[in-house]
This record gives sequence, structure tokens and C-alpha cells, in this order.
Amino acid sequence: MTQTEASDLALVPFVSVDNMMRLVHRIGIDAFLTGLANYIEADFRRWELFDKTPRVASHSAEGVIELMPTSDGEVYGFKYVNGHPKNMKKGRQTVTAFGLLADVATGYPVLLSEMTILTALRTAATSALVARHLAPKGATTMAMIGNGAQSEFQSLAFRAICGIDTVRLYDIDPAATEKAARNLAGSGLTLVPCTSAEAAIEGAQIITTCTADKQYATILTDNMVGSGVHINAIGGDCPGKTELHQDILLRSDIFVEYPPQTRIEGELQQLPEDHAVTEFWQVLTGTAPGRRDARQITLFDSVGFAIEDFSALRFVRDHLRDTGLYDQLDLLADPDDPRDLFGMVMRAGA
Ligand code: NAD
Repeated sequence: MTQTEASDLALVPFVSVDNMMRLVHRIGIDAFLTGLANYIEADFRRWELFDKTPRVASHSAEGVIELMPTSDGEVYGFKYVNGHPKNMKKGRQTVTAFGLLADVATGYPVLLSEMTILTALRTAATSALVARHLAPKGATTMAMIGNGAQSEFQSLAFRAICGIDTVRLYDIDPAATEKAARNLAGSGLTLVPCTSAEAAIEGAQIITTCTADKQYATILTDNMVGSGVHINAIGGDCPGKTELHQDILLRSDIFVEYPPQTRIEGELQQLPEDHAVTEFWQVLTGTAPGRRDARQITLFDSVGFAIEDFSALRFVRDHLRDTGLYDQLDLLADPDDPRDLFGMVMRAGA
């Protein structure tokens, strides 16, 4: 390898928030969500070859900071992400993130990216992918409870990937519902703002809960959930933070990403450790059944797993080429003689 080629490898493409937004517009949000879902599905189908571990979480009274690593043996990825429900009231995001892909053979990073927007996109794409396999056939209406930062992404993914045409919106804060309705106007979805969670779930075949509160909340009680629905539970994703009454879980067939993580963080933390669940990748590979009948309640106990972020970063890397929508970061020290790191520092002061 020439010196120039080695120096090029030391420059790491970086996708800023601005460039991520441009990339979303360049690709188109429907194509982005659909493409992401395809990448996630492809990686879930090769689930067994990934290095997997529950994410490393550092908890505080206000929230959590987490690292989410995985590798397929050729590429390594991780995401840094926080969850701070009280941030929103102070004008900050509840969830922010950035992430990195690296070449396993050299350990050199090959992509650094903002992931606050990308997480919203990948969470929505994952939810819709799961619902495409588990929701009742012909579902057209979704209740969207919690109309914060994730909500429009969820609504659009369910339209693009599952064919949902009506979204019934509810949030304890009417300003959030107004914001979501405004942002989704012109999307082709029929939007029905509702004044309670009970009203929102009327006639809905899919119920998405996407609220943020660091407590054992009860967004849905057992009597609210009729047979045959699919529940997409997004917001319970941390110890001590859930959204559904335990009795709903006992009536549902529960589908999860990675059980060792979901049992700590998901709605599952309310049930005994040996409660039977299905890993969603097995539905995709045909090794476990998905929805069996029209009366069954299916529940996706979503917490967000590292492989989804890996897929999302792969998608961005593959679609970045020839767009120019990145900066080259001088992230890695790169002396001409690899053993002369010290000499390079000294010469910089001369
Ligand atoms: P956000 O703070 O922007 O929005 C949350 C909304 O929930 C707010 O509008 C709030 O008013 C509303 N809310 C709170 N309590 C409610 C209640 N009892 N009933 C109805 N609405 C209520 O947060 P966000 O970024 O949209 O994230 C939502 C949740 O999703 C968070 O808990 C976050 O941790 C989680 N999340 C999960 C994943 C995943 O992969 N599972 C990924 C990203 C975010």
C-alpha cells in the first residue's frame, strides 16, 4: 500500500446531522424506511453469526447512557445512545445518539455518523418490519400513543411498509398531538387526534405505545386491549420503565429482539425470567411461528438492539457513495512511520 492510500484510510467519513437530513431527502423518506427495513431483515436472517451482548448501560436517577456493540466478523459497529425523559421539558431530546462502523481486519473505523435521526428511522423501520409479519391481515388503522420525537417516523414506516392508512393520535400533551398532526398532514395518512388512549385504540388493529416516563407506567390496561390486535410497545426500554399492564402481557404472544436484553429492559421485566417468548429473527427464518390466528394478541416488546443500528449504519455507508454528503474526519493519528508516533507529535510543534 502506498503512503497516500494509507493516509486516506486514516480519514474517516463523518455524517453530520445536516448531511443525514440531506441524505433522507435525497433518498426519500419512504425509500429510506423501506430500504432500512430490508437491511434489518437481511441482518436478522443471519442473526446467529453476530456477536451479541445486552447493551452496556449506565443508569442515573434522570436517565441512562448506553453503548450498543455488535459484529458480523467482518464489520464491527457500536452506538452511543442516551434516554432522558425529562430532557424534553428543558428543550432537549429524550434520545440522542451517534455511532461507528469499523473494519474488523484492521480495527480502523470506516464510518462515524450522527444517529439521533437514524435511530428514529431504524426504530420505525424495525417496528413496521415486525408488524408486517405479526399484525392481523388487512390492518389499516394504527393507534399512536405518545406523539413525541419518534411518532411521525413510526407513522410513516407503518404506512410505507404495512399499508396503514389511518393513524389515531393521542398524547397527554395536546401540543404534541397537534405537532404530529401538522407534520403528517399531506402524508396521505388519515389522521384522527384523540383525547384519551381509550379513544385512540378504538377500531385500531395495531397499537403503538411510544411514551417516555421513567416509571412503571400503565399506558394500556387489560380491559382496553381486545383480541386480535398487534401491540408495538416502544417506550418501555429501560429497567423501571414500562408501559403496559402485566395482565396484557399474560394474554399476549410476546416477540422480542434479544431475550437477555429485553428481560432486563422491556415489558418482560414484569414477568418471571422463564416466561416463554419468541425471538423475532426466528419468525423471519421460519424456525418459529408468527401470528397463528385472528384472535391472538401479538406483542412486540421492543427495546432496540445493536444489530438494528449495525444495519442502519451499513445502509448509510452503502448509500453515501457518490453523494458527497459527508466530511472526512482527521480522527486517527497517522505517522509516516507507524512506530514514530512520538516523532510526529514533536515535529508538529516545530
Ligand atoms: P419524547 O420525549 O420526544 O416523546 C414522548 C411523548 O410521550 C411526549 O410527547 C409525552 O408527552 C408523551 N407521554 C408521556 N407520558 C404519556 C402518557 N401517559 N400517555 C400519553 N403520552 C405520554 O420521546 P421519543 O424520542 O419520542 O421516545 C419515546 C420513547 O421511545 C422513549 O421512552 C424512548 O426511550 C423510547 N425509544 C425506544 C426505542 C426502541 O428501539 N424501542 C428507540 C427510540 C426511543
